[in-house]
Parts: sequence; structure tokens; C-alpha cells
Amino acid sequence: MKERNLSEIIQERIKLAGARYHCNDNISQFINEEELDLLVDEVAINFQTVLKSLVIDTDNDHNTQETARRVAKMFVKETFSGRYQPVPKVTAFPNMGYKSLYTTGPISIRSTCAHHFQNIVGRCWVGIVPQDEVIGLSKFNRIVHHIAERPQIQEEMTTQIAEALKQYAKTEHIAVVVKAEHHCMTMRGVREHESDMTTAIMLGAFEKDPALKKEFYDICLSMKGHN
Ligand SMILES: [Zn+2]
Repeated sequence: MKERNLSEIIQERIKLAGARYHCNDNISQFINEEELDLLVDEVAINFQTVLKSLVIDTDNDHNTQETARRVAKMFVKETFSGRYQPVPKVTAFPNMGYKSLYTTGPISIRSTCAHHFQNIVGRCWVGIVPQDEVIGLSKFNRIVHHIAERPQIQEEMTTQIAEALKQYAKTEHIAVVVKAEHHCMTMRGVREHESDMTTAIMLGAFEKDPALKKEFYDICLSMKGHN
């Protein structure tokens, strides 16, 4: 009987737990650290067959001899690491009385389009009105990076960021704006270089209070990188 691939074993664990494993789901709880290296090996073997099907002579072409392995490592350890690495640890502190809007950004977005596996590169701004607890400023970057580093579509990424911040920062009032260039638009398809896509999610008071929403957008426009 054929030995099962590690990916099949992992899939089985996920199914047993009744969890989902779409491209933008974090499945770190079903894989341990050593298995990640074995997963890189499996992806490398399979990516090698892709290169072969593309009729690239990886035996004699010095540039592509190690490409399958490099790509596999890049997917698992870097560009899709938000699927395989545990969610960031975030400690919330008691809020000593600041209950107004604060805004942070731009936070870099490095993601991958789930439809074409092309880059999504952009920036994110976050607005928050804290309630009883607050989190450290750098945690916003860590949370956004972790969510971005997966194959996905921008709309779902923006929603995921807003929901995660709501949960970590323990407040209902979250605003997230993502502005990004999609390489599946620039490198292929319509080959349009000037288009960006902007998505925004407004939760709690940001949704209900137009003045707060406007204040957030005005601050975003005054911040670095919003051109
Ligand atoms: Zn795409």
C-alpha cells in the first residue's frame, strides 16, 4: 500500500476536528514545527513536476535546479506563513481612560491572490475606539501581517483583519481600510498598472456615527503613504 503524504495526514486531522481549510484559514494547530519542514519537502517534489510540465530542463539549467525547493520554502515559510504559523500572542492591558479614536498605519500588506497566486501589495490603516482594554501598537502590525500572508481575496482579508482586531483589542469599534495593487491585474489579464483596490470595514460606532467615520478618513488621508 502506498504511504500517505503528510498533506493527506494533516487534512485528515482537520476533517476529524470539523475545521475548515480554505486558502485563507490558519491551520497551524494541526501541524507541528518539524512537520513544516517535511511539508516543504512534499511541496518541492510536486512543484518540480510543475516545472517539468512547463518543459524546463531543470537538470541542465543552473537557474532552475533549486527552484522547486525555493518556491516550496517560500510558500510554507514566508508568503503563506499566515496559514501555518500560530496566531500572534497578544496581551491586552487595562485601558486607563482613553476612550477616543486612535489610528495606526500605514501597515504593509503583502498577500497573494487566491485566484491567480499573484502578489497583492499595499497598505492598511486601522482606526479603533478602545473600550476597557488596549493592545500594544506593534501588535496591529503583527496581526495584519499574519492575516495578509495567505492566499485570499482582499475583501475577505479586510473582514478577517477587522474581526481579529475586534477580538484581540476587545472593542466593538474597529475601522479597517486596505488599499492594494493586485499583480493579477498588472501582470496578466487587463495589464492595468495604475489601478488600486480599496476596501473598508466599519464596525460598531464607525458604522453608526458618520462624524467618527469622517474623522478616521481625514486622519488616514493625513498619514504617510496615502497617495
Ligand atoms: Zn487574481
